Amino acid sequence: MKQYDFVLIGCGLFNSVLAERISNILNKSVLIIEKRDHIGGNCYSEIDKNTGIEFHMYGTHIFHTSIKRVISYINKFAKFNSYRHQVLSSYQNKIYQMPFNLETINSFYKKNFSPDDARKYMKEIIQKDSFQNPKNLEEKAINMVGKELYEAFIKNYTSKQWGKKPIDLPSSIINRIPVRFSYNEDYFNNCEIQGIPIDGYKKLFDNLLLNKKIKIILNTDYLKIKENKFKPKYYTIYSGPLDRLYNYKYGKLEWRSLLFKKKILRKNDFQGTSVINFSDIEKKYTRIHEPKHLHPERKKIFNSNKTLIIYEFPTQDNSNPYYPINTLENRRLHRRYKILAAKQKNFLIGGRLADYAYYDMDMTISAALKLFDRISKKITRAL
Ligand SMILES: Cc1cc2nc3c(=O)[nH]c(=O)nc-3n(C[C@H](O)[C@H](O)[C@H](O)COP(=O)(O)OP(=O)(O)OC[C@H]3O[C@@H](n4cnc5c(N)ncnc54)[C@H](O)[C@@H]3O)c2cc1C
Repeated sequence: MKQYDFVLIGCGLFNSVLAERISNILNKSVLIIEKRDHIGGNCYSEIDKNTGIEFHMYGTHIFHTSIKRVISYINKFAKFNSYRHQVLSSYQNKIYQMPFNLETINSFYKKNFSPDDARKYMKEIIQKDSFQNPKNLEEKAINMVGKELYEAFIKNYTSKQWGKKPIDLPSSIINRIPVRFSYNEDYFNNCEIQGIPIDGYKKLFDNLLLNKKIKIILNTDYLKIKENKFKPKYYTIYSGPLDRLYNYKYGKLEWRSLLFKKKILRKNDFQGTSVINFSDIEKKYTRIHEPKHLHPERKKIFNSNKTLIIYEFPTQDNSNPYYPINTLENRRLHRRYKILAAKQKNFLIGGRLADYAYYDMDMTISAALKLFDRISKKITRAL
């Protein structure tokens, strides 16, 4: 059996960037082993056969960044369209803009505030209900936006998303709830670039993994193959969850998961935008995605009389991990597994699953490029 220079476990964004760098810059061979039947990990997109609409299989992914190194890297592999992301939230059958801005405040409180009026008003209502030492997510959120906005937009949405009441969630889950005192509704307005790859995420991954020195094996769980079957010359790089790698020796890390239900409609446009959040508790789903809005430049598909909508339901399913549950206990547990990984010879870890962290795509790319720098130094020194 051929010995590869590197064996990469998982074909998500983290390892795809590493495979690209290792093959193109170091001229070394790479074997990627992927459990799923496709490349691209959670960023994967595909074309729905019935409608021709490209959709993101694991939830809408908007590329956005201001990291210079990531911009110059990703531009070599994809061109981005001019999509600007806007977040809308449905509460009692009315749509409001997110993050909270002047339009949300005026529309919710039925006012016509100027920026200064709104600032003053929000300060007063926040002071009215604020907690001196917020003990949980609910108290922290009320301190940031006041009780009424919290109850309308955050309380039930958070309960559905995390499967727990906000009073039972640690305040550390939220850092900041942005409130804009302007009508700016561009969600990533402070990012240098944002958009969707014009040819889709699948094509972006095809471009990253083009080098003939990269071999990909799909439908193969690394943890179910014989140890040492694919021993590389240099490193194994693992991008899956650490608890599973060590057979849950210290216990299970908790994750929130998502379930998606697709529906095709015989109409041009269902909701007029790519994603709407639903904050009412009666609606079990948290979002409806309508992916045709991500590619308005694909005019024929965009104007067709069919659309695809996808309902998103949060679930607790550790076998399909999406969001780490960032409690102190989980972080401690993860640290113990990390110590085990650090002791393994010629073994490296990274990516959102192994690091038990929520990384946006730009952070994932940045982390992969940094790991590549380390590997590259070691390999070139050894040669
Ligand atoms: C719902 C959701 C929406 C998001 N939206 C955005 C967004 O709008 N913008 C943005 O910038 N970021 C977004 N992200 C973040 C983005 O998805 C991540 O940054 C990116 O997917 C991380 O890549 P990764 O390679 O670390 O992990 P993954 O994409 O999870 O790839 C890991 C791969 O490893 C494989 N694997 C695991 N264990 C094994 C094993 N034992 N054997 C073989 N293969 C294995 C998995 O099958 C998977 O394919 C979103 C994330 C989620 C969950």
